[in-house]
Formats: sequence, C-alpha cells, structure tokens
Amino acid sequence: MITMKISQLYNKGKTVFAIEVFPPKKGSAMPEKIYAALEEIAGLNPDYISVTCGAGGSDSQGGSPTVQVASFLKNVCKVEPVAHLTCVASDKQEVSDLLAQLKIHRVENILALRGDINPDIRRKHDFIYAADLVRFIREQGHWEVAGACYPEGHSEADCLETDLKHLKIKTDAGCSTLITQVFFDNALLYSFLDKARETGIDVPVSAGIIAVTSKKQIERMVSMCGASLPPQLTKMIAKYETRPDALRDAGIDYATRQIADLIEQGVQGIHFYAMNSPYVARKIHDNIKDLL
Ligand code: FAD
Repeated sequence: MITMKISQLYNKGKTVFAIEVFPPKKGSAMPEKIYAALEEIAGLNPDYISVTCGAGGSDSQGGSPTVQVASFLKNVCKVEPVAHLTCVASDKQEVSDLLAQLKIHRVENILALRGDINPDIRRKHDFIYAADLVRFIREQGHWEVAGACYPEGHSEADCLETDLKHLKIKTDAGCSTLITQVFFDNALLYSFLDKARETGIDVPVSAGIIAVTSKKQIERMVSMCGASLPPQLTKMIAKYETRPDALRDAGIDYATRQIADLIEQGVQGIHFYAMNSPYVARKIHDNIKDLL
C-alpha cells in the first residue's frame, strides 16, 4: 500500500494547499448533493482534504459520516483525506473502533481534537486534552497526527503564551503538523508563528482561511471560535449584507488577498475552509493557483 503522510508534503518548495469540508449529517435528506459537491471540490486536486466531525462522540454505530466521506475522497476521488477526530465525548474503546474503521478505508491522516465543551454533550474522561488523544493514537500504530492551533489563543486559555505552552505539549505528544483556527488579519498569524517558534514548536503550520460569504454564517462562526473581525472586514460585511452575490464576491476577494500575502510571506500551508461550496473553492483555487 502506498502511504501518504501529509507532513511529507511540506518543505517541497511549494505552499501546501488543503481544503476543509464537512460530511452530511446522519439521516440527512439529500446526502448525494453533498457528495456531488465534494467530488467537485476534490476535482480541484488540493494537496489534501480534511473532513470535520461532530464533537458528540465517535459515533461508530452504523459507520461514521466522517469515515464515509474520508473513504470516498481517498478511494473514489483519489485525494488524500485527513479525518478529524474529537475525544471530548469518547472513550479509548470508541476511539480504537474508529481507528479500525479508518484503517479499513486506508485513511492514514488524522486531525486529533478535543472538541468544544458543551452542556449538550455528555463528557467522557479518558482524554482530557487533545494531547492525550494525540499520544493515544500515536501509540496505536503508524498514524500521522495533526493538531489544531489558535493565532489569537484558544478561548479557554488565559493568554496566548499559556496556550502556546499547552500547544508545545501537544506537538511533543506527536503532532507532526498544525492547522490554525480561522483568522482575518495576517499580522496575527505572523506574530503567532514567531511566538510558536520561540516556544520550540517547529512543525509545519497551515493557515486557516475562510471566505466570508454570508453575515449569518460568519457571525455564528466567530461567536463559536472567538476569531476577531478587523474593521475593514466589518465595514465590508455591513456594505454588502443585503446583496448576497456582492458579499460573496467581496468575501472571496478578501480571502484571496489574505492568501496571496501569506504565500508571499512564506507560510508553509493554506487550509481553506470551503464550507462545502464548490463555487467558492473553485474561485479561490483559480485566483491563487499560480502563486502556489
Ligand atoms: P486542546 O489542544 O486540548 O486545547 C483546549 C484547551 O485546553 C486550550 O485552551 C488549551 O490551552 C488547554 N490545554 C491544553 N493542554 C493543557 C494542559 N496540559 N493543561 C491545561 N490546559 C491545557 N471541533 C469539532 O467538534 N469538530 C471538528 O471537526 C473540528 N475541527 C477543527 C479544525 C481546526 C483546524 C480547528 C482549529 C478547530 C476545530 N474544532 C473542531 C474545534 C476544536 O474542537 C475546539 O477549538 C476545542 O475547543 C479545542 O480543541 P483542541 O483540539 O484545540 O483542544
């Protein structure tokens, strides 16, 4: 079997370009629509596609939607998938069962996450932090494990410096790459990268970028993840909020400019949150493909 670990993609003299998608909800009415969108996104041939998962447990009963989509990308679309895996509501046996499913489908790359703590989710305690999950997965075999990081600091950490100390524990536990939370001001990323390097974190970092295409979507996302909106972006959203096509185009333009600057400044990877939109993913890809 040919193995493809995503860390091998970095340091080849080009910027790694990845796209993030989400699977259809279990029992959703039109999963085939999502699969058609995923196939179109895979057709852009990104370096890899990561597939989100719910925080509510490993959900291995009847097959996890994340595993199904990751398998589809790997075995049908022939694009390398990264399966997200959360542990806040899973025990070791459930994680092992999920790893077994991933192995059957030849998925080798995992983004190991704790998941948000949420009163609607019954917490389990085999894993307290994502670092515990990273360590556990690495003990199970030759998995490639990535971790999440936060240019503005994670919302539960008292400051960025403390969060970076915890991030160092996570990379020492066996993360070979990191993917950032979305951010809208590149200066935040550059400062974060400098501090991460000073903390001794030396694995490749991919920068998480989203195109703002709807006011509601971005407000929801920002309220969940705590990313700050710079004044020029807030102004842009206010100007176009009643004209969906104009807001979408302006959002794509803003994200394109952010990515172009990141590439010029030498970031190792771009992780584009496509929200399952082939239109937006294609526009972004077309705008930046010659820069990569
Ligand atoms: P951790 O690394 O465990 O960090 C969580 C908090 O604990 C931080 O404040 C950290 O500073 C602190 N901490 C860590 N270690 C220690 C320690 N040893 N002592 C004290 N404090 C410590 N969520 C989903 O549900 N599904 C997804 O698919 C998903 N995908 C994501 C993809 C990316 C790229 C990112 C950035 C986030 C994603 N999330 C997803 C959200 C993520 O689950 C939440 O942000 C969650 O709150 C934290 O997860 P983590 O893996 O970063 O946790």
